[in-house]
Amino acid sequence: MQAAVLNRFKELLEIQHVEVPIPGPDDVLVRMIACGVCHTDLHFIRGDWEIFQQYLPRIPGHEGIGEVIELGSNAGDDLEKGDVIGIPWVHETCLQCEYCLSGREEFCMKLVRSGVTVHGCFAEYVLMNTKFAVKLPQGMDPYTSAPIYCAGVTMYKALKSSRVKAGEWISIVGVGGLGSMGIQYAIAMGMKVLAVVEPGDKNSTNLAKKLGAEDVYDGPVDKHAEWIRNRVGGVEASFVTVPLITAFEQAFESVKRCGRVVGVGMPKGNMSIPITRWVTSGIELIGSTLGSRKDLQEALDFAKLHQIGCKVEKRKLKDINQIFDDMSNGKINGRIVIDFATV
Ligand SMILES: [Zn+2]
Ligand SMILES: [Zn+2]
Repeated sequence: MQAAVLNRFKELLEIQHVEVPIPGPDDVLVRMIACGVCHTDLHFIRGDWEIFQQYLPRIPGHEGIGEVIELGSNAGDDLEKGDVIGIPWVHETCLQCEYCLSGREEFCMKLVRSGVTVHGCFAEYVLMNTKFAVKLPQGMDPYTSAPIYCAGVTMYKALKSSRVKAGEWISIVGVGGLGSMGIQYAIAMGMKVLAVVEPGDKNSTNLAKKLGAEDVYDGPVDKHAEWIRNRVGGVEASFVTVPLITAFEQAFESVKRCGRVVGVGMPKGNMSIPITRWVTSGIELIGSTLGSRKDLQEALDFAKLHQIGCKVEKRKLKDINQIFDDMSNGKINGRIVIDFATV
């Protein structure tokens, strides 16, 4: 099969011929249909997380959808050949620790990551642990739905964690893969959304408005809180999806008393906040990453009900290095999805 392999951090991925993997007892073998390309993949290939060096060489990719074509001996009764399932970041967890037992498996210390700890879906075939395989609901498009398995569930759970109610104002900072899904989920949940994009970014402004944002800020990065306070007096919660420390600090300044700052993007470094305002205003700082299998099922069902899908552009596996180049240069609007029908 063809696969895009990362041999060393910071190097180009190499399109190689690799043997089709053989499923172990708990695995299914999946023939890929679609795979979103996520900013997390870019962090990984750039070597932003040194701790993952031990896993190289590796086939990245963790927003896949494909068809089950072979089942391991212990695969259970829930899946059969022909089922269409997702390959998310959470490949498997221990199922026994306090986080797994309390439905917060995304925080498991033994989390096995698709595309990092094990091979991912920038390949024609991939293995998936049956216990963590969540089926794509009938009738959903695999291309526009692939990003739900990462960006979609991440934003769905972030919104859930924020406890914002219908009719309340929120801000979504950044309108990439995460932000564009977040706007759709938030609006379907009845929230009123202000979006914040990079200075002068007309494409993201138009996308945010098309998705239903009430208004969009595209001014200087260090003034977005002032704009939000002037516009609506402050938001109930701000969701920061961009890897930019100033955006986090501005988000903190933009929320109302008892508001929530929900961190989803991951810039390197520290943010500084005025402790007095934090304490006396009762502001909560919430870190949110991924979601559990239940969150994922909910995110998919909710997306089907409200016809939520990612704005995607289909590209080919052999274009993978160009895709990452475009991503690094901020040239992507929405999400790139690899289309395996045309490998
Ligand atoms: Zn991702
Ligand atoms: Zn665990």
